[in-house]
Amino acid sequence: MSANVVNKTLSKKVKGIATSDGAGVSLTRIIGQPALPRLDPFLMLDFFGSDKPGEYIAGFPAHPHRGFQTVTYMLAGKMRHKDSVGNEGVIEAGGIQWMNAGKGIIHEEMPEQQEGLLQGFQLWVNLPAAEKMSSPNYQDIPPATVPTVNVGDASIKVLAGVLGDTVGPVKTTAVAPTFIDVTLHKGSVTIPIQQSHVGFIYVYEGAIVLNYGENKTALGALELGVLSSEGELLDITASDNAKFIVVTGKPINEPIVQYGPFVMNTQSEIVQAFNDYQNGMLTA
Ligand code: MN
Repeated sequence: MSANVVNKTLSKKVKGIATSDGAGVSLTRIIGQPALPRLDPFLMLDFFGSDKPGEYIAGFPAHPHRGFQTVTYMLAGKMRHKDSVGNEGVIEAGGIQWMNAGKGIIHEEMPEQQEGLLQGFQLWVNLPAAEKMSSPNYQDIPPATVPTVNVGDASIKVLAGVLGDTVGPVKTTAVAPTFIDVTLHKGSVTIPIQQSHVGFIYVYEGAIVLNYGENKTALGALELGVLSSEGELLDITASDNAKFIVVTGKPINEPIVQYGPFVMNTQSEIVQAFNDYQNGMLTA
């Protein structure tokens, strides 16, 4: 790389904690826990993966959201989604669902299987004040429409945002997110990161090393690395196959008041959300 191009480093490494959510789905919470409460513009990252039906079969029955976006990316298995706007679909392995809760939605996500491996991510992306009360909508992206590009020794699925000349199928503008899923075979890859973007790498299989020389940093399986705000490139090597996601976006830099599934800017907006939900007005 030319001397004036700066590599991103990691400002922090975090391991998730085991917990459960929904009606009792076992999962690992990586963002949204004491070691990493938030990573503006991201509010939560969960990784779920089990081949024991008892750990996932109860799913996520109907529940509300207001003020942000929920993203479900499946790696294995299938999840059926239904919501109060009338959307329904099955998210398949390699597919992603990007839902804008906006002013309010009630939805459920239930496993579309009785056995076998169910594995994937759920990411919560905050919305700026101007878009918190936007109309709800969702995008259901089937795996066949997700482009895969080969870069260095990696093959990279571009789910949202841009990687070089490749544009991901998810259309959402609020924080201009980029969401890529990288399979790095033994070797190396250099990944450009958009300027002004912040975010993370999460390794879900194998292990990787960022950078060389003094800035060399190892990131192991099930570890999240918070990317430094400085820099435009990720230089990554792996001595064996590794799989990881890289998710970045523009920080929002606004106050956040959260009450469970409602994420607003002020306490009074939370009270309003709660009252609207109680009065059946959340989705009106
Ligand atoms: Mn939800």
